Amino acid sequence: MKHYKIAILAGDGIGPEITQEAVKVLKVIEERNDVTFELLPAAFGACAYFESGSAFPHQTKAICDEADAILKGPIGLSHEDSKRIPIDEQPERGALLPLRRRYNTYANFRPVSLPKSLAHFSPLKAEVIGEGIDLVIVRELVGGLYFGEKEMGVNDAGLRYVRETLEYDEAQIYQIMQQAFKLASKRRKLLHNIHKSNVLKSSVLWNEVMEEVAKEYPDVQVVNMLVDAAATALCLKPTQFDVMVMENMFGDILSDQGGGILGSLGLMPSACIGPDKAYYEPSHGSAPDIAGKNIANPYSMIGSVAMMLENSFDMEAEAKNVWAAMQGVFADGYSTADLSKPGSGVTMISTVEFGDKVVEKLRQMPKV
Ligand code: NAD
Repeated sequence: MKHYKIAILAGDGIGPEITQEAVKVLKVIEERNDVTFELLPAAFGACAYFESGSAFPHQTKAICDEADAILKGPIGLSHEDSKRIPIDEQPERGALLPLRRRYNTYANFRPVSLPKSLAHFSPLKAEVIGEGIDLVIVRELVGGLYFGEKEMGVNDAGLRYVRETLEYDEAQIYQIMQQAFKLASKRRKLLHNIHKSNVLKSSVLWNEVMEEVAKEYPDVQVVNMLVDAAATALCLKPTQFDVMVMENMFGDILSDQGGGILGSLGLMPSACIGPDKAYYEPSHGSAPDIAGKNIANPYSMIGSVAMMLENSFDMEAEAKNVWAAMQGVFADGYSTADLSKPGSGVTMISTVEFGDKVVEKLRQMPKV
């Protein structure tokens, strides 16, 4: 019997609601396999700040250190409510970036996937979706502008100013490129390298290292694309992409666009992988506009569980079952409110009902 410890950071806003559904799925995985999960809940984000004065308290750090993997819900407050927390303790700066730095989770995998049968969820026309969207954004997660030195103050002319720096060294680029090329080798052998080398020198070095790594993967076709052009192409012809690799901020923005072309950010799970530890989280935020209403889509959180099963616990077959169970709920004609359009013939269900239906489907599946 395998035994794994999972730190559960439910987070803010819709975080606790969608985490609850993910935990239900973990319990069914236990029932169906020779595995036990020891769930270790810990405070993280704005809720932790209000409880203890720290968005990433020592006790949470100790729990994450001890865990085999971390399942993290979204964190953050609405724009107005954020002002109740000092700038450096606001959830991203006070908790999320320190979590990524602590475990050097440099490789962020964000699948953007919608089968043809669910094309009606997307705002794109069916002919644009064709046989379905199935791409992965590989985002560098611990470098670039988000992690560079930051300074705010008043300059000699008496004007308020801000300075943020964007830094990468070749080793950081090399390691994310290795991840992207490995993934591309296992898939369609097509890698879109997203950059901005016409303006940013960081992209010039990025591309140089990419070309060096490409020599190790002669079977992978590389297509270079400027990030602005990629934003357009994601809307006009998303099916041209398979694996896309990009630096931190580009990945943050384009992956939200990925959620947009699918029809909802609620369809966006992710895996954040470091050398010794990985954590799993939805790509989206805490959705304060719908928090507490039992209408959030838990697909992103349950999908993050599937990615954890595959990457951290070597349970690839069961991970596939989790994806299939969620697709099965959609195929039966149900969806949460974010994906239901009036008159579309889809039956709207709550967060809890979606989780219940996934559990029901999973229980019906043959054990692996
Ligand atoms: P958001 O991603 O929370 O929400 C954007 C829109 O998508 C909203 O309309 C929301 O209702 C919808 N949405 C998101 N997830 C959904 C789901 N699972 N089901 C249904 N609808 C969903 O972005 P925001 O409103 O700009 O940010 C809210 C807070 O989240 C901010 O404090 C921000 O800093 C934080 N944030 C955190 C993370 C993270 O924890 N990794 C990531 C992004 C934003």
